[in-house]
Amino acid sequence: MKIHEYQAKQILSQFGVRIPRGEIADNPARAREIAEEIGPRVVVKAQIHAGGRGKGGGVKLANTPGEAENLADQIIGMNLVTHQTGPEGKRVKRVLIEDALDIGRELYIGIVIDRAQESPVVMASSEGGMEIEKVAAETPELIFKEHIDPATGFQGFQARKLAFKLGLSGDTFKQAVKFLSALYKAFQSSDASLAEINPLLITKQGDVLALDAKMNFDDNALRRHPDIAEMRDLDEEDPLEVEASRHDLNYIKLDGNVGCMVNGAGLAMATMDIIMYSGGMPANFLDVGGGVSEEAVKNAFQILVSDKDVKAALVNIFGGIVRCDLVANGIVKAAKELDLTIPMVIRLEGTNVELGKKILQDSGLSFFSASSMKEAAEKVVPLANQ
Ligand code: ADP
Ligand code: MG
Repeated sequence: MKIHEYQAKQILSQFGVRIPRGEIADNPARAREIAEEIGPRVVVKAQIHAGGRGKGGGVKLANTPGEAENLADQIIGMNLVTHQTGPEGKRVKRVLIEDALDIGRELYIGIVIDRAQESPVVMASSEGGMEIEKVAAETPELIFKEHIDPATGFQGFQARKLAFKLGLSGDTFKQAVKFLSALYKAFQSSDASLAEINPLLITKQGDVLALDAKMNFDDNALRRHPDIAEMRDLDEEDPLEVEASRHDLNYIKLDGNVGCMVNGAGLAMATMDIIMYSGGMPANFLDVGGGVSEEAVKNAFQILVSDKDVKAALVNIFGGIVRCDLVANGIVKAAKELDLTIPMVIRLEGTNVELGKKILQDSGLSFFSASSMKEAAEKVVPLANQ
């Protein structure tokens, strides 16, 4: 799950990470009030779940509370396009009004899980404020890394090593070490999958603060953090993905035109592979789960047909725990209720497969059937491209 910058800053400050003074506003008048309290100079920052807001015109400096009000008026309601939103952009609902600080240096700090090393990694770079992906691609030697042993945690010497490599000294060095430890504690305690500070500000006076903050969380751990789970902003998510999660379906929207409905994540991955192998592109990943019910089949179809990119669908069900006749009944019922018009290729295998196939045949509906995954993929791809 992703959250907004202002929410990430709330969490981080609870762990002692230093952030600029600021408050959230959903209307221009409130923006002015906040600027009067903490200003006069403030930065007005669009809150959307995407980076690159500065370049896209979503982060602006205001010298007076009146200016803050005008800028908030411009930014709230605007459709902000950044390199991370895609060309359609994101509608801005709120702005963070923040103390405008004097910029000395802009550094980069990020913590993620390094899956290959099976541990969290703290990354630091002097090249902050810009796209870190570019730094990683072009000058990877400018990114310093410390892997964390989860059993012992982030050690003081590791924080000092990173602060030293960033070229910090004196009181700034000490502040940076404290900052890094607090950031790691926040990352670890909140079951985050990412905590990124870009830029980490070193003020002209030598103070260390998080100017930007991004946090993502492991969805599987959210029930341990009801306060964080509450920060979810459904408006920032794909509507079909939201709908799927309400039905406990694992659904991820992709770019192709072949809708997939599969039981089991492994089979779903293999199905997407074979669609691509046959020259097609899946429109989604959809795992209806091991013990598919008629209800789940219907919900899954509802989502598939709501996606206007889906031109044909491939249903690939392995009847292990679930019986093929039950799935076939679910498909027939859903197809009749939802008035499915897209061509559909169905491949059933496993328990009661003969009965399942008979139910489909006797239904009077026109499905394409396939006995193997390869046959199914080779049938569905041309149908989708027609
Ligand atoms: P994004 O990464 O989405 O572009 P940031 O929060 O990193 O958004 O802001 C972009 C730039 O705006 C920063 O690199 C920094 O130069 C400037 N900025 C952001 N917040 C402040 C602030 N409170 N005071 C001064 N400058 C700021
Ligand atoms: Mg940033």
